[in-house]
Amino acid sequence: TTFADLGLSEELLRAVSESGYVHPTPIQENAIPWVLMGRDVLGCAQTGTGKTASFVLPMMDILAGSRAKARMPRSLILEPTRELALQVAENFEKYGKYLKLNHALLIGGESMNDQRDVLEKGVDVLIATPGRLLDLFDRGRILMADCKLLVIDEADRMLDMGFIPDVERIVSLLPQMRQTLFFSATMAPEIRKLADAFLSNPKEITV
Ligand code: AMP
Repeated sequence: TTFADLGLSEELLRAVSESGYVHPTPIQENAIPWVLMGRDVLGCAQTGTGKTASFVLPMMDILAGSRAKARMPRSLILEPTRELALQVAENFEKYGKYLKLNHALLIGGESMNDQRDVLEKGVDVLIATPGRLLDLFDRGRILMADCKLLVIDEADRMLDMGFIPDVERIVSLLPQMRQTLFFSATMAPEIRKLADAFLSNPKEITV
């Protein structure tokens, strides 16, 4: 299988090929076509499997072609730590060279004023840790009505770090009609319960 077989646009295929990737990894091969079809995905995959590109690439494909309104992000990726959020942002820069999509990072330790200004310009992809996102939401800087694509990454770490109540609140703020992608390295009963609550008829992929 090649990346071209998965249904990604030319702009993305060019950026992927410039990254030096020739073949998709198993999680990429299995997840990307389902995400492009609009399905929810429950992915059981660890870091190091190419998991990030398995959601970043099809998200970019789905979002390309229209633009965000001020304060109304069109998609949200939740990460448990600032390091992971930074890595995801790097992926957007790498694969987004030939697309005009805005992404923004909402993580602790960065200026709230800068983050507020970025949100005001319109953000296609918001990459955030739960606490900082809720902080800006509670200050009235973010509206969730257009946020119809959600990624919950590293759900088991979210659980370990005590972030589940924040994640549940964030999900409750999003439109009901949305596509949700949920990734975890393990599928303990508590994680499975969350997945059941957040996902609708998901395609399950284990690598
Ligand atoms: P991740 O699991 O998303 O953290 O990715 C692990 C590493 O694999 C990262 O350094 C990626 O740049 C790299 N990678 C992701 N997809 C591929 C691929 N299809 N071929 C080769 N390397 C990849």
